[in-house]
Amino acid sequence: MQQIYFFNEGRRDMRSLLGSKGANLAEMTHLGLPVPQGFTISTVACHEYEKNQNQLPTALQAEIVQSLERLEAITDKKFNSVQTPLLVSVRSGAAISMPGMMDTILNLGLNDQTVIGLAEQTHNERFAWDCYRRLLQMFGNVVYGMPEQNFESVLADFKRRNGYRTDLDLTAADLKAIVGRFQELYLESEHGAFPQAPEEQLSLAVAAVFTSWQNSRAKVYRQLHHIDGNIGTAVNVQAMVFGNSGADSGTGVAFTRDPVTGEKKVFGEFLQNAQGEDVVSGVRTPQGLSAMEAMSPQAYQQFLTAVAKLEQHYHDMQDVEFTLEHGKLYFLQTRSGKRTAKAAVKIAVDQVNEGLIERNAALLRVDPEQISNLLHPEFAAATLAAQTPLTKGLPASPGAASGKIYFTAASAKAAHEAGEKVILVRQDTSPEDIAGMVVSEAIVTSRGGMTSHAAVVARGMGKCGVVGCAHLVVDQEKQQVTINGTVFPEGSELSVDGASGQIYQGLLEATQATQDENLQTILSWAQAVGQMDVYANADTPSDFAQALDFGANGIGLTRTEHMFFKADRLLKMRRLIIAGTVSDRVAPLAELEELQTEDFYQLYSLAQGKTVTIRLLDPPLNEFLPHDAKELAQVASALNMSVSALEKRVAVLHEANPMLGHRGSRLAVTYPDIYEMQVTAIINAALRLKQAGVPVKPHIMLPLIDTLPELQWVKARLVAKINDLLAHARTSLHYQIGIMVEMPRACMVADELATEADFFSFGTNDLTQLTFGYSRDDIGSFLPTYLEQGILKEDPFKTLDVEGVGKLMKMAVDKGRYQRRSLPIGVCGELGGDPASIQYFAEIGIDYVSVSPFRVPSAILACAQAAIKRDYQASKVAVQPS
Ligand code: ADP
Ligand code: MG
Ligand code: MG
Repeated sequence: MQQIYFFNEGRRDMRSLLGSKGANLAEMTHLGLPVPQGFTISTVACHEYEKNQNQLPTALQAEIVQSLERLEAITDKKFNSVQTPLLVSVRSGAAISMPGMMDTILNLGLNDQTVIGLAEQTHNERFAWDCYRRLLQMFGNVVYGMPEQNFESVLADFKRRNGYRTDLDLTAADLKAIVGRFQELYLESEHGAFPQAPEEQLSLAVAAVFTSWQNSRAKVYRQLHHIDGNIGTAVNVQAMVFGNSGADSGTGVAFTRDPVTGEKKVFGEFLQNAQGEDVVSGVRTPQGLSAMEAMSPQAYQQFLTAVAKLEQHYHDMQDVEFTLEHGKLYFLQTRSGKRTAKAAVKIAVDQVNEGLIERNAALLRVDPEQISNLLHPEFAAATLAAQTPLTKGLPASPGAASGKIYFTAASAKAAHEAGEKVILVRQDTSPEDIAGMVVSEAIVTSRGGMTSHAAVVARGMGKCGVVGCAHLVVDQEKQQVTINGTVFPEGSELSVDGASGQIYQGLLEATQATQDENLQTILSWAQAVGQMDVYANADTPSDFAQALDFGANGIGLTRTEHMFFKADRLLKMRRLIIAGTVSDRVAPLAELEELQTEDFYQLYSLAQGKTVTIRLLDPPLNEFLPHDAKELAQVASALNMSVSALEKRVAVLHEANPMLGHRGSRLAVTYPDIYEMQVTAIINAALRLKQAGVPVKPHIMLPLIDTLPELQWVKARLVAKINDLLAHARTSLHYQIGIMVEMPRACMVADELATEADFFSFGTNDLTQLTFGYSRDDIGSFLPTYLEQGILKEDPFKTLDVEGVGKLMKMAVDKGRYQRRSLPIGVCGELGGDPASIQYFAEIGIDYVSVSPFRVPSAILACAQAAIKRDYQASKVAVQPS
């Protein structure tokens, strides 16, 4: 079985076998671009390695040896040869690109002999020893897990002692001494001497890459991006080219369009006389591409032609890595470029206008989760006008954030867990910092450019990011940062403007961003394609107005209880609950009815004929009750009763398990007057609007229904009440009474329930809670471990559990529609806004999702994507030969 492929044997569609880096190296080779040659050890080999208890199987070892011989023939160089040493890079790459996640080793093949050969052959001793010290560093770190810091401090020491500013000041003699010191570090470690045999270096490196697939930062990244851990990684072994071989050499990265604004203009960074990682790691702040143009106008023209070809070929913005060795250009990587949400929508719309892609392709190109970033806050011009920035860096990722500063991933995480808003401030970031970046509002670094690790990751996460703040000095030891002479200790408050790169002292207030024109275009295309409606979960007129602004078709869920939590209303609600008898409830109910009528009136006037679905009171009554002594005393005095009487009543209402207790429609059975009050408010509000000539569509929703007799019982009373009201007003009104489907039992008997319910709306939060038997409020103690151990792939409260909860939903849909074909069915609850879950909802025939206002645009796009993918699948099935 072939486990290794040379670059000229692969193509871009072989990603799952070659990983995306390998497949794209092959594709570039095929396109005739200058790519240093090499081969890809496939993901199949990764699986074989794991099956073989993390040992390279003999068959694979043999294939590696053969492939090396072939590479030696192609390059006319030899492993372990002093005259013409072959050096390679060993680069990991999974099917889905995971920037910075896996590890790369450069200059492999160097040892105490070949380094001398390389120096002689290139007439450049400094260069040869620079390569060797890099190999020792990367190999030690990746293969043996020796801390990067140990190597870095040797380098830093050397520079400090000699008064050097950058790595470039290190002389050949310095580097030789550094290599000596690095080799001592190996000897001091448990691993012993650095392996001199290139073949051994290679086997160890390949094994280390395969093992690194399971390292914790790779796992964190995969979890964050929903990447399956079973796909494995490939390893690329590629002949080295040297950007660090002199003043006519260099290395860079470039995007075919601006990754921040989306502007159609090649954007990149370049470092003269440098190798690979130097650009992205932020060790030196890079120059623009003009530096490359100045160095070699000819190579620059060749570069521009090549990247234009790449974008045309891939039909997407590309992110490329390249190197100039003595003025000769080489490409080392291409992939779809990460971009801000703003750039994503601009590029998608532009590329449709340029005729490069179709509308549907453009819709698939934009990540629904990402576009919510476009709705995120910015600092108002007026706020900023009154401030003087402390300093300015590169605006790497837009957004506006304020919070307290922390200098390590661990302290950022701890502060976040303590409920603080956190800004991570570092010299530069590396994959070890991911966990800290995830919890931060903003990321600030003193070094690095627009393509540094910090910048790329911040953009990918949609976090505000400012990098390369030259006047900001981080002191890790003292846990403080100095900005233009002023010291800010850990925990100081700063504000970061990702749009301008400015940093301000104190907490500035951010405001809602203005609507993006390209986003509007994308959403209008999406609405034309999507087959599900998008409603909003809105409890207040301002939420609803926001949602309408974002394109919502109506309200799928108004949680009336949220209307009672405001201070002035809470007391009225408490009076109602405390009342022991029906007659005691009359007065508070009347007061609440008046308030609710006004609430509903406002929602219906905003809706202008769109559906407004109002759910009757759902939570356990004791959620409204006072709990500590102080509150008890306050409420007792406000309600004009003794504390002991109040305590007695609270004790009566106490429940051992309120989530499964006296709530939802169960309240309607024991306190019918509460739901009757709410329905009265709904109908009266609707009638007022009807009289004024405004169309209204009241949808009344009953929570927590389990059985048909329960539904019949509650509904009969509500209908009687409504009939009274309508008779009294001598008019008629179209209304619907539907149910939340959120109990597993309701799914089982959905066909029965459909005889009485005018619509279904899945409450996926409760349904997930009850199907798993996971208390939503207590999952914190075990769910993280389940995810870490891979027992659960996803948090089922964030992404639908298709196999379990999804199956129940499908059953309920099928049963409901079997009873009544036209039964409207929606989903409200968190999962309604999750793109992956939306795909499944589309498949089982859900009519609408209802999501929080800020998720409306994402949901509109996700619905369009679901429809496009379904059509695509259907067309594939249709053309399959029978
Ligand atoms: P990552 O996935 O972190 O970008 P890469 O495998 O792309 O890791 O390699 C890290 C750096 O080393 C990149 O800048 C890349 O261009 C450079 N590099 C990799 N292989 C070679 C090579 N054969 N010759 C020169 N530079 C290389
Ligand atoms: Mg790379
Ligand atoms: Mg519920």
